Amino acid sequence: MNRSSPLRPCMILLLSSLIVVMAACSPMNPRPQAGVQGLYVFYCGEAHIPDISPWSPGFNVGKPMDFSDNCYLIKHGDDWMLWDSGFTDALVDTPEGVLGARNMRMVRTRTFASQLDEVGVSPAQVRFIAFSHTHADHVGNSKLFPTAMLYIQQAEYDAAFGPEPMKYGFVPSMYATLRDNPTVKLQGDFDVFGDGSVKIISTPGHTPGHQSLLVRLPKTGPVVLSGDIAHFEENFVNRRAPGFNFDVEQSRRSMDKVDALLKAEHAQLWINHDAQQTKGIAHAPAFVE
Ligand SMILES: [Zn+2]
Repeated sequence: MNRSSPLRPCMILLLSSLIVVMAACSPMNPRPQAGVQGLYVFYCGEAHIPDISPWSPGFNVGKPMDFSDNCYLIKHGDDWMLWDSGFTDALVDTPEGVLGARNMRMVRTRTFASQLDEVGVSPAQVRFIAFSHTHADHVGNSKLFPTAMLYIQQAEYDAAFGPEPMKYGFVPSMYATLRDNPTVKLQGDFDVFGDGSVKIISTPGHTPGHQSLLVRLPKTGPVVLSGDIAHFEENFVNRRAPGFNFDVEQSRRSMDKVDALLKAEHAQLWINHDAQQTKGIAHAPAFVE
């Protein structure tokens, strides 16, 4: 009689379990790399303002300031996510720029499309899009991404596509195509990839559904992309909000919320329109890890 025969079913079970475990750990089946690999920062226009005081009521009266305008393209696994799209590329056709609200002269010397092409990403590859808010200097090229999944706060959507978009400073022709994008309407903070690496942070005030973005970069560390919670650092530090914001008090609370997040995460704040700070941040074709 074979003494091992009563054990055989157990051994077979054990062996097959081991094979399953080994297969799961095998380098032949690598799991996709978790988290964010990095991002591109693109030049998405600029604005020249003769008197910056409307952005900081009671301060900087008569003082001129230049604003940067950035777009950000985030790589997560095999996916690309766009955050903000800047002024419309059509602005390059008017080299002297176009005058906007509060005597702001808006200029674009290079298109966003050409910069995407330079880094080898086609708009069709961008799977997810979100905008800090719906003003023309952030959604100007939204129409380049008609199939991407849009993440937008419900309050922003209702303001943008409601009866009075002009009341919020929105220009519907700049974002009209977004109505046809697949859309997820948000009611607050949202973890985009479910792994904590990219989080939309609800920061209303500048507009009804304004949002910011926390991105955990593998080498740089966590950064918060501001949107327009503040247009330059001095305003963030002193909690100064433009008088033309949708809700000034709410704007200050959103700055407090982001400040607490920066401290808890030891994160940097990248202020989209702060031209001084923008000069120190590597732009495409450099890939920021
Ligand atoms: Zn802006």
